[in-house]
Amino acid sequence: MSTAYTKEKKVGEGTYAVVYLGKQIATGRNIAIKEIKTGAFKDGLDMSAIREMKYLQELKHQNIIELVDVFADKEKNLNLILEFLPSDLEMIINDKKLMIVPADIKSWMLMTLRGLHHCHRNGILHRDLKPNNLLISPEGYVKIADFGLARSLGMPNEKLTSNVVTRWYRGPELLFGAQHYSPAVDIWAVGIIFAELMLRTPYLPGKDDADQLVVTFQALGTPTEEKWPGVSHLPNYNNLTVYPEPSRQELRNRFPAATESALDLMCGMLALNPNNRLDTEACLLHGYFKELPEPTEPENLPKKS
Ligand code: ADP
Repeated sequence: MSTAYTKEKKVGEGTYAVVYLGKQIATGRNIAIKEIKTGAFKDGLDMSAIREMKYLQELKHQNIIELVDVFADKEKNLNLILEFLPSDLEMIINDKKLMIVPADIKSWMLMTLRGLHHCHRNGILHRDLKPNNLLISPEGYVKIADFGLARSLGMPNEKLTSNVVTRWYRGPELLFGAQHYSPAVDIWAVGIIFAELMLRTPYLPGKDDADQLVVTFQALGTPTEEKWPGVSHLPNYNNLTVYPEPSRQELRNRFPAATESALDLMCGMLALNPNNRLDTEACLLHGYFKELPEPTEPENLPKKS
């Protein structure tokens, strides 16, 4: 442990990490100490993970969580000192007392895409975006957490909590075990989160990895060589039941509150072939963000009481 911070109490436990509330002694401000167990790393704690974290520290952006410091302690655990943000989008989605209107969804999407754009422009992928990685500041700003971390972590062999690794936000290329993936994996996750915000319930909740493929393709159609050249050569591609792509009318019925441009944007993010998915820039320039309603100002967004 560094002498620059105090560790006060445990506030949470995730798949790879234990999180504590602490204080930065020099300033007195609250910080979160995220202690990642050495065992969580695929090949021990490698320096490249630390270098990447250090690089992320420089990547300051309004919609990315501030990484105040990073160091390895004497037990060789990686300690991330982060701004303390006690709320996240999952808590908001699950709080059925909160009313969410289309302008709120637009605001959360805009902030998420702006943060993501900044990272992608700097060559960093997230790879594990989900509503509980979208933290919310007291002023209502979305702050993407855990950027670049997923790359260094292996699949957990022993779960720290009852938390399971979320596969619901994983694009088809990840499900097929593609070795080389692109920023499009993050766009897929944001598309799924967009759908979840509209439905107020997870869009594609697979029960296990195999079921995730079935659920995904039942909802969006099965990728074929024709639509996605090379797909049948990916590692986990087996003979799949071919489900048709949903019609536009089917999508309208599934998302009754969505406008036509909201549906267009969602479809652009959820293209099965990652090469056909919109990138962050195309998403940010999309007509959905130009039409009314205007996005809710962050301070007026619904928040946990
Ligand atoms: P998960 O594996 O669920 O993504 P994490 O390991 O990221 O969880 O974090 C575990 C818990 O710690 C979170 O659910 C949250 O309650 C808390 N937490 C994580 N980061 C912060 C932070 N920056 N500020 C405050 N609380 C946090």
